Amino acid sequence: MKRVMALLFGGAILSGIAAWTAMAQGEPKITLQAFECGRLKQNDLGRFSDTMRFKGEAREFIAGCFLVRHPKGVLLWDTGFSAQLIGMKDGPPGLTLDKSLTDRLTQNGIQPGAITHVGISHYHADHSGGAGEFPNAELLIGEGDWAALAAMKPDDRQAVQLAHWLSGKGKVRSVKGDLDVFGDGTVTMLAMPGHTPGHSALLVRLPKNGAMLLTGDQYHFRENRAVRGVPTFNTNRADTLASHDRFEEIAKNLKARVIIQHDPRDMAELPAFPAALD
Ligand SMILES: [Zn+2]
Repeated sequence: MKRVMALLFGGAILSGIAAWTAMAQGEPKITLQAFECGRLKQNDLGRFSDTMRFKGEAREFIAGCFLVRHPKGVLLWDTGFSAQLIGMKDGPPGLTLDKSLTDRLTQNGIQPGAITHVGISHYHADHSGGAGEFPNAELLIGEGDWAALAAMKPDDRQAVQLAHWLSGKGKVRSVKGDLDVFGDGTVTMLAMPGHTPGHSALLVRLPKNGAMLLTGDQYHFRENRAVRGVPTFNTNRADTLASHDRFEEIAKNLKARVIIQHDPRDMAELPAFPAALD
């Protein structure tokens, strides 16, 4: 018994010292950083509404990527376009990328090897394109998307982006429902099916700034969130509406700050990379 008590108190003292050291160094436990990982010109927003809104309107989207630092690891949330797009002639119209994720991170003092988890909101190529730059990270992806990818032909562009994990070479977690990424409730993948079968949003609970909700593609721009629009290319309309409901309820209950990942206005309101929210 004495030994157990000694171990318990010893552990408590040690973890107390670790916490004190972290505080003394001014290191917040959890931070969020945001940066751009591609641009998409939309010449006609008509396809973002199946109720005929926005037809003929043009808008530029950003592909938003995020780093969540946690004492137990570093999560990269969404990965933008593939670096193959850089300088590509005759590439997909309207899509641009000026820098690979690896370059963007290393130029800001972050070693790509520090990324322990790559979380993908869904399998579309503007979210999964850079994942292959982090082959040692554990891939986190909604179960419905993982099943859809596995059913695709290997040369499908969306499957190609994640070939490392689909071929069994990388560690992958196919997520059923929600996932508490680091086990303490601070970083949670939220199942929001409808845009794709396994689409997810990300909830990050920061010590100072509180709850942050990253949309994935639950919404693409502010005006479409205001009317809870459903893009014509979503895989399931009823699921999308149910996910809109869940998303808005969570946002309200946690008084969360919502970041629409494709909306340049939401991205511009976050600290310029590599500055972080804590
Ligand atoms: Zn999408």
